[in-house]
Amino acid sequence: MPFDLHTHSHVSDGTEPPAAVVRAAASAGLTGLALTDHDSTAGWKEAHEQALSSGISFIPGMEVSCFSETGISVHLLSYLHDPHAPGLYGEIERSRQSRLSRAQRMVERLAGDYPITWEMVLEHSSPNATIGRPHIADALVTAGVVDDRSAAFSSILTPRSPYYVGHYAPDPVEAVRLVIEAGGVPVFAHPMASVRGRVVGVDLFREMIDAGLAGVEADHRDHSEEDRRTLWDLAREHGLFVTGSSDYHGAGKPNRLGEYTTPDAVVAQIEERATGSAVIRP
Ligand code: AMP
Ligand code: FE
Ligand code: FE
Ligand code: ZN
Repeated sequence: MPFDLHTHSHVSDGTEPPAAVVRAAASAGLTGLALTDHDSTAGWKEAHEQALSSGISFIPGMEVSCFSETGISVHLLSYLHDPHAPGLYGEIERSRQSRLSRAQRMVERLAGDYPITWEMVLEHSSPNATIGRPHIADALVTAGVVDDRSAAFSSILTPRSPYYVGHYAPDPVEAVRLVIEAGGVPVFAHPMASVRGRVVGVDLFREMIDAGLAGVEADHRDHSEEDRRTLWDLAREHGLFVTGSSDYHGAGKPNRLGEYTTPDAVVAQIEERATGSAVIRP
C-alpha cells in the first residue's frame, strides 16, 4: 500500500492543522504520510499523535528551501533527520528569520497600491508558521485583489514583480550535506517543475548527487510525462530511488492527497538510510 511523502500543514503554507492532514490521509486510504512543511518541524508532534490514533504510519519530514548561486529555487525534502542537529537547524532558522522580514517588506511595498496590512497576513498564518508568499496571497484574496493563490502567484507575487523581495536560503549542495549530517535522507523535490521558474541544470544536479542526494521526486503534478521519464532515467543511471507525492497544501492548492504515491519498498530504503529519527507505525 502506498505512501504520500510530501504534504504541508498550517505550520507552513498548508491550510489545515497537522492532525487534520493526517486524518485526511487516513480517509484517503493511504498507508502512511510524510509531513514536509517548509523549513519547519513544528508539526511533527501533533502529526505523530494523530497518526497513532488514525492507525497510519507517519514519517517526519521537512522541505528545505534553497537557492543556487545563480538564484534558482531548489526544494530539498529531508526525511527522518534529527530536528535538533545544529547545522541544519541553524540554516533553517536563518531562512525563517529572513522570510519574516522579507514578507514584511513585500507587504510594505504592496500596501502602497493595495488595501493589505501585515495584520491581515498574520491572520492568514498560524502562530510561528514559516511565512511565505502564500500567506500574502491569502491576504490579497481577502482584500478582493485576486481570486485565489494561483492568481496572486501568476501576477503580483512573481519574482519579476516590483513587489517581490528575495530572502536568504542555503545553497542546495550544502543543504544535502546538512541533511545527511543530521541523519536524514535528502530527496530532490519536483526537480523539473518549470512552472515554478528556472530549474537546475545537469551540473548542479551532479554536484547534489556527489554530495549524497538519495532520491528524486519524479511523480509530481508539476512534471510532464517527459520530465518523469528523464528523472526515472537519471535515477537509474545514478542509483537514486524515485518517489511520488501530492505536495498537498489543503485548500491552498488543487493538489489532492495520494494523487501520486511512493511504494513501501522505497519507504523501506529511506528508513534503512536514516539515523536521525524514526518512522512511527500504528
Ligand atoms: P516563497 O517561498 O515565500 O517565495 O513562496 C513559495 C511557496 O509558494 C511555495 O512553497 C509553494 O508551495 C507556494 N506556491 C508557489 N506557486 C504557487 C501557486 N501557483 N499557488 C499556490 N501556491 C504556490
Ligand atoms: Fe508550499
Ligand atoms: Fe516545493
Ligand atoms: Zn512542497
